[in-house]
Amino acid sequence: AAAATAADDPIAPSVKVNYTKLLINGEFVDAASGKTFSTIDPRTGDVIANVAEGDIEDINRAVGAARKAFDEGPWPKMTAYERSRILLRFADLLEQHHDEIAALETWDSGKPYAQVADVEVPMFTRLFRYYAGWADKIHGLTVPADGPYHVQTLHEPIGVAGQIIPWNFPLVMFAWKVGPALACGNTIILKTAEQTPLSALLVSKLLHEAGLPPGVLNIVSGFGPTAGAALASHMDVDKIAFTGSTATGKIILNLAAKSNLKQVTLELGGKSPFIVCEDAEVDKAVEMAHFALFFNQGQCCCAGSRTFVHERVYDEFLEKATARAAERAVGDPFKEGIEQGPQIDKDQFEKILRYINSGIESGATLETGGERFGSKGYYVKPTVFSNVKDDMLIAKEEIFGPVQSILKYKDLNEVIRRANATNYGLAAGVFTQNLDTANTLTRALRVGSVFINCFDVFDAAIPFGGYKMSGMGREKGVYSLSNYLQVKAVVTPLKNP
Ligand code: ADP
Repeated sequence: AAAATAADDPIAPSVKVNYTKLLINGEFVDAASGKTFSTIDPRTGDVIANVAEGDIEDINRAVGAARKAFDEGPWPKMTAYERSRILLRFADLLEQHHDEIAALETWDSGKPYAQVADVEVPMFTRLFRYYAGWADKIHGLTVPADGPYHVQTLHEPIGVAGQIIPWNFPLVMFAWKVGPALACGNTIILKTAEQTPLSALLVSKLLHEAGLPPGVLNIVSGFGPTAGAALASHMDVDKIAFTGSTATGKIILNLAAKSNLKQVTLELGGKSPFIVCEDAEVDKAVEMAHFALFFNQGQCCCAGSRTFVHERVYDEFLEKATARAAERAVGDPFKEGIEQGPQIDKDQFEKILRYINSGIESGATLETGGERFGSKGYYVKPTVFSNVKDDMLIAKEEIFGPVQSILKYKDLNEVIRRANATNYGLAAGVFTQNLDTANTLTRALRVGSVFINCFDVFDAAIPFGGYKMSGMGREKGVYSLSNYLQVKAVVTPLKNP
């Protein structure tokens, strides 16, 4: 693996950390407790910055500000066109500050700079333009009722939205949550992930520069069981949206039920099948399966983490997939040409190495990788296992790392049954040139996204979400608006029907 340098001499980022406090009611403030926590450079384990640590009191303050901004305005009372224009101005500012945002996100998350600069920041900007476009196109219906009534529906914002996001895509997850909530006229308290608090603070500063009124978007950095749980439990929060693990998703749903039955949307874990059919073009399938698993250091909820390969192409696929993983360029994410940076933190790094050991112990064949890369930071060598069986831990649980598990299959019905034999249902990849095979698999797979001869296509207009224990609700696209709207039926008697 890894022609590139190890992280022993990391490249200095060309950006300063300017915002580390909580953002409440339009102002950067310290935590009520005065406490801070460190956010770490995953290339080295060194501290990047100390960030204000929000807890229950800060959540209470932030909810108060959001409540006031919702109940008294001006946000929900502005014209939809004015809201749209603020989001468009924000998108322009994002373009002006592109390099600074990309460098900060790379530093805090360890993603390759090119991925952040060329894909994620532009995607973030595109998502806000997409939602700016929706803001003034949200409207209800006129309803034909039995009887002499004029009936219409109003599509109104839900109110104060709590949002809790993970560390694997700090900016993109911000856009998936904040974009639709703002377009629909809600106010927000966003709890960022403790591993990656920085980029949200920078872009939120720009959003205020674009004209967002104070209190509409409040950012509370901090930990899950404290700040996150306080938000999910709050009696004055009308809706909670969460992305993260299935275990934490259950906690969130419970907290919502135990408090005020706030509406809940969840985007949770996955163990997505990537199915390579007997007629697949092997070279292309190898590259796409590689991307489906290794993209973002393997830290994707929809990662194609069960690579099912038809027995007729299995040997050729395995040889080429192993060679591709072995030549994946690992190293300092600021270095040009790097495909894979470090994992997000020590916990994830150690968890992945434990899964690798479990794969070896359970009898899977380690084809390449299988250990840390370099001697510093949280790098893991791209790893491929063959001879993986369905009941092995590495085939059942979400690893969230650069570990590809290759499984052999014989026929279509068998692979459908095995692909669906999981509590997850987020995504699937299907690689075939046969339209009938593609259609059969597409309809049989119990997942929220099917990528045929492609993977991870994340256009703003394409809905994303899970079947089964991968979540509730859909983000992006027209479907995402319903997460942030409620419907009011208005009935008026007609005098002269
Ligand atoms: P991961 O394993 O990817 O870190 P988590 O589900 O633990 O996934 O974290 C995703 C987000 O949920 C983070 O912002 C985290 O702080 C938050 N979180 C974790 N535990 C809780 C909890 N008990 N209540 C509310 N939020 C939580």
